[in-house]
Amino acid sequence: MGRIRRGTVVGIVAMALPLVVAAVVAASFFPGAGQRLVTLFLINVVAVVGIGVYSGNSGIISFGNVGFMAIGAYASGLLTINPIVQKTALPNLPEWLMGWGAPFLPALLVALVVVALVAIVIGIPVARLGGSSASICTLGFLVIVHVVLVASSDFTRGSQTFFGIPRAVNLWVALPFAILAVAIARIYRDSTAGMKLRASREDEIASIAVGVDVRLHRFLAWVLGAIISGAAGVLLAHFIGAFSPKDFYFNLTFMLLAMLILGGITTVSGAVVGTAVIMVVVELLRKLEGGVDLGFLSLPTVFGLTDIGIGLAILLVMYRLQDGLLGVRELDEQVPFLKRLAAGGGRPVAQQPSSVAVAEEGTLRVEKVGKRFSGLVALENADFEIRPGLVTGLIGPNGAGKSTLINSVSGVVPPSTGRVMIDGTDVASLPVHRVPVAGLARTFQNIRLFRNLTVLENVTVAASAVAEGRDPVELAREALAEVGLGDVADQLAGTLSYGAQRRLEIARALALKPRYLLLDEPAAGMNPAETQELMTVLDRIRTRHRLGLLVVEHDLKLIMRLCDIVVVLNKGQQIAIGTPAEIQANPAVIEAYIGRRRSAKPRTQPVIEAEAPDFDPDAAGKPA
Ligand code: ADP
Ligand code: MG
Repeated sequence: MGRIRRGTVVGIVAMALPLVVAAVVAASFFPGAGQRLVTLFLINVVAVVGIGVYSGNSGIISFGNVGFMAIGAYASGLLTINPIVQKTALPNLPEWLMGWGAPFLPALLVALVVVALVAIVIGIPVARLGGSSASICTLGFLVIVHVVLVASSDFTRGSQTFFGIPRAVNLWVALPFAILAVAIARIYRDSTAGMKLRASREDEIASIAVGVDVRLHRFLAWVLGAIISGAAGVLLAHFIGAFSPKDFYFNLTFMLLAMLILGGITTVSGAVVGTAVIMVVVELLRKLEGGVDLGFLSLPTVFGLTDIGIGLAILLVMYRLQDGLLGVRELDEQVPFLKRLAAGGGRPVAQQPSSVAVAEEGTLRVEKVGKRFSGLVALENADFEIRPGLVTGLIGPNGAGKSTLINSVSGVVPPSTGRVMIDGTDVASLPVHRVPVAGLARTFQNIRLFRNLTVLENVTVAASAVAEGRDPVELAREALAEVGLGDVADQLAGTLSYGAQRRLEIARALALKPRYLLLDEPAAGMNPAETQELMTVLDRIRTRHRLGLLVVEHDLKLIMRLCDIVVVLNKGQQIAIGTPAEIQANPAVIEAYIGRRRSAKPRTQPVIEAEAPDFDPDAAGKPA
């Protein structure tokens, strides 16, 4: 996981301080109701942060975490309940659970172990799913927990109130838990594990292509979030002392999710701010709910005003700010003063890439690779090899199967026939996320960056897959320097110019220290200046790293300048392979390109001299 960075510490302190201040103010000036309210706020912070660890980082809304709160509450309730109360309240309890009357902390620990075990069992199927399927699963889990609690009346008194739990939690107990939850969540978010999960949230396919085991990281966040939620449940149980299953059901789920989404689901600061805002709104509305007499105006009792208020607050905020009040960056990444603090101590500026991995000999063999999509033959019998230190060009009209070839070779879309061997290893024998680590990196025809991660984080995700004891951030800075993006490391990737985004994708692939690099139309859509810059970068990469490069490109001038070998595809068939000079003279290639031209620009360019095709890049079309 690496050491904890300065920015992380600043972020934790920036969130912890207001919590401490709130607690001190409440205790000094508002003992009683105010103090209770702040205690509840701190417990809610733990609960919201628990959901945020999974949902914020994975992008999958969880309705299930309140289920873990319930499990925590009932488990620790059973262990701590006063034995005398227990005799009357739970007469049918099995022998082994009777008469424990345990203190708060040991009960908390046992309850968290129970929660963790349940989370592990549920997490195995949930982590295989993404998006709304996973969300629905978590909802199912919440319902199951509720039904089981209601049905197990020997243990829980069913839907009746479960009472007699020692009120061990007050303001000063809740405060350290809230700070701890914030710290754990923030450390996780900033760790390489958290970064990987956030990358998969931004673009699952691209994250797999840089070596992220999406399932594993979803699972880890699910379990970690569940434990934090479980702790919130235990705290709540020992704060209110009596509760029933309906206290841990939809209402609470809705309120906690509202807090998380309102503040900004992807950040820990957002969770804290959202919790505070919703609690203030709820308190104000609760006062109004019972009817108010202002002298000149008397408001009637409005049932459900608080829920309507939460709903309206969400609608209003989301309408203006779809990423919540704080957006996608932590507070300390936005506020100038905190940014300076986080950056203090002077950053290492790795302008000169130091370690140059020179590939050993080997080859990437593409052996009779073909791909069908139901009836359509997108690719057939592609057969060539990519060697370290050489640039192989892959050309052909739109729809020829070039992207399909790259997808098949990199394992994103497994080939229907043939096989791909990296230095003797069959790619098909590896899980997709291991392919990049085995030495094969790629970029995408349509840019696939992690847009809401910083430029540096984009590359760090990749670097951490191969870091082997080195600091992935340092490796990432080297890769950025290599493509000339060192100065924009802290910007969000989505804010870069088009050409810079293309180069960032290359840097991200380079950070995997690949031996083979497949670039799908790296210059597509670039202006001449950007193309020139890209060419410089590619030249440098090839001389410095002796990578085996495969470049798909429509600009044939560029291909002829850059490549040692050119492979030509047309309608899924490999129609030629040879040196640029051979390809330029190949009648089948000229035919394919001229046929292309006639159909593409019938009016403006009706006839092209067949003996000297000048390969106008426009004729081959711009990116999709
Ligand atoms: P190129 O990159 O050379 O422009 P592609 O590899 O993208 O061509 O496409 C080759 C052919 O395969 C096209 O006819 C395209 O419509 C088809 N194709 C590509 N991907 C899919 C897919 N996922 N499902 C069905 N057909 C596809
Ligand atoms: Mg393509």
